[in-house]
Formats: sequence, C-alpha cells, structure tokens
Amino acid sequence: MRAIVVERPGGPEALKLVEVPTPTPGEGELLVRVKAGAINRTDILARKGVGSAYKKATSRLGVEMAGVVETVGANVGGWQAGDKVMGLVSGGYAEYAVIPADRAMPIPDNLSFIEAAAIPEVFLTAYQTLYWIGKLQEGETVLIHAGASGVGTAAIQLAKQVSKATVIVTAGTDEKLSYCKQLGADHAIHYKQVSFDEEVTRLTKGKGANLILDLIGAPYWNKNIQSASMDGRVVLIGTLGGKETGPIDLFELMGKRLQITGTLLTPRSDEYKASLSQELADRILPLFASGAIKPIIDKVFPLEEIHNAHRRMEADENIGKIIFQVGD
Ligand code: NAP
Repeated sequence: MRAIVVERPGGPEALKLVEVPTPTPGEGELLVRVKAGAINRTDILARKGVGSAYKKATSRLGVEMAGVVETVGANVGGWQAGDKVMGLVSGGYAEYAVIPADRAMPIPDNLSFIEAAAIPEVFLTAYQTLYWIGKLQEGETVLIHAGASGVGTAAIQLAKQVSKATVIVTAGTDEKLSYCKQLGADHAIHYKQVSFDEEVTRLTKGKGANLILDLIGAPYWNKNIQSASMDGRVVLIGTLGGKETGPIDLFELMGKRLQITGTLLTPRSDEYKASLSQELADRILPLFASGAIKPIIDKVFPLEEIHNAHRRMEADENIGKIIFQVGD
C-alpha cells in the first residue's frame, strides 16, 4: 500500500508518499481501507521531530481516519467486512490502517467519509475536555479559545447542544468570529483587538467563566486566571502560543479556588481511548445523525498533496478540519 512517511524531520516537503507493507490486523483489531483522514497539529509536531515519541528514523503520521472494514481480526464481535468505520489510529496517512475494534466508531448513515474523518480527534478531545475533565454543567459559562479551530468548532457545538452553556469564544479574524457565532457561540471576542479577560469580565457581569478550554498556553495564563469564575476550571490542551509563563501569582489560584489541568489524548492508554470513543459513539453520534451537530470541513486535499494541507494549517488559515482524501 502507499503511505506518508517522514524519513527526516523537517518542513512540509518532508512528507513522502512511499510503498510500505500493508498492515495485518491482530487479535481484537480491524484492518480498514482508509477513504479519508484529517490533519492535526500533533502530525505537524511529529513531522518536525518535536517530542521524544517522534524522534524515530522513520515516522508514520496520522491519528484518525474514516473508511471501510477490509478484514476483521480474531476475537472481534460486532464488526464485519464492508462496515463504515471511523476512529483514532496511528499511521492514518495511508491507504490502509489498523484500529482496535473497541475504539472503532460506526459512521452515521447521513455522513460521507470526508465528514466522518473530521470527527474523531477533535470531538473526542472536546468531549473529554468539557465533560470528563472540565465537568461542564448545564447552563454554565465556558470560554473556548481559538473558537474556529478544529477543537474549538467541536467544543462550541457540544457546549451548546449538550449543555445549553453560554459560550464565549476568542478568535483572530472577523470571518472566524462570525463563523463561531453561526455555530452557536453567544459572544465572540477578537483577541487581537481587545483584551479578552476584560471582555469576559464585562460579558459575565464580573462573575467570570466557569470553564476555560485553552490551547494557546503561556501568553494566556494570566488572562485566563482573570477570566475564571470562583471555583473555575481551566483545562489546557495546547501551547500554540508558548509553554513557559512569566511569574505566577499563586495567591490568585487559592483566592478563586481554581482547578487547572492539562491533558494530551494521543499518549493515553488504549483502554482510555476505547472508553472515550464508546461514550462519544453512544452519547454524541445520535446528534450527528439528527443533524444537531455537524463535522466542520475546511478544505479537502488528495493524499498526494498532504504537504499543502500541512502548510494551510501552519498558516492558521483553516476554519474547522483540513481533510485528506484517499482515491476518488
Ligand atoms: P487548528 O484547527 O489548527 O487551529 C488552531 C488555531 O489557533 C489557529 O488557526 C489560530 O486561529 C489559533 N492560534 C494559533 N496560534 C495562536 C497564538 N499564538 N495565539 C492565539 N491563537 C493562536 O488546531 P486544532 O487542530 O483544533 O488544535 C488546536 C490545539 O489543540 C493544538 O495545539 C493541538 O495540538 C491541540 N490538541 C490537543 C489535544 C490534546 O489531547 N491535548 C488534542 C487535539 C488537539 P486564530 O486565527 O483565531 O488565531
């Protein structure tokens, strides 16, 4: 089969489409003919060789895919060849990928493979962040940074549709701000034009946000603390703006009784990914089937042009997910 590999870390040109052996599904696994997949920031870090997990001589990229079950491994129930499936994998930038059956999710009938490929990573991340870690309650106020990002567009929809939360987002262009509002955000703040913490304080009449979903990191630390309510929670899932903060006033954390958590999905255990995927499938896929929640597609590239897909993400141009398609 053909797959994208990175033999030497570098820029988008380091992504090479080469022949590699087709994987065989082991016990409890499915072999999937990949029809589409999506680009994630973790793939960009892997391509650049950032992080110990990615410093191997040859790296296979791609953490999610949608496709058709080709072969079913031993001791798998509930799946058969020909089923439409999506989920988290490793080595998803390829014509075939193996997925543990207990984390495979069925594709709702109303969705194409391209739409399905936009779901796993960002909806699992947003769901985990809002509910398993952030404990979002119905009617609370949530501040979602980078609202037009893949994770942000998923989180806006979940917070509105599942929790009827008041959703405040930040984003860096007028187009992104108005898109977030179309998706249901109640307030959208242009973080390049105003100080978001002052705006959150004004919008919440001084109460602050109960939950903050942050993927920017260091430059937002102090403003997040100012934006949080009493007993507020901050969940950090990315450091797009940097990872080293300036001085931190610990008394502010105590004074507001804040909970600050960080998490990464990719290195989580197989068991964790399986339970998270099963809960998303049970609780949220019906909302995709009814049309209440939708996958947000930015642009679709053929697998052969995946380097241009990486360039688009690194230029911060996307609203929602950048997809690659395998074949027609
Ligand atoms: P994405 O779709 O590529 O969107 C990222 C957006 O963030 C950019 O388009 C840009 O939008 C904004 N941004 C970038 N640099 C910024 C900066 N310095 N200051 C303010 N805004 C900035 O990203 P994604 O796929 O949703 O992923 C978002 C983040 O979540 C990444 O860091 C990713 O690694 C992380 N993530 C973490 C997990 C986890 O488990 N921890 C899982 C998935 C993703 P504007 O134009 O609005 O600035």
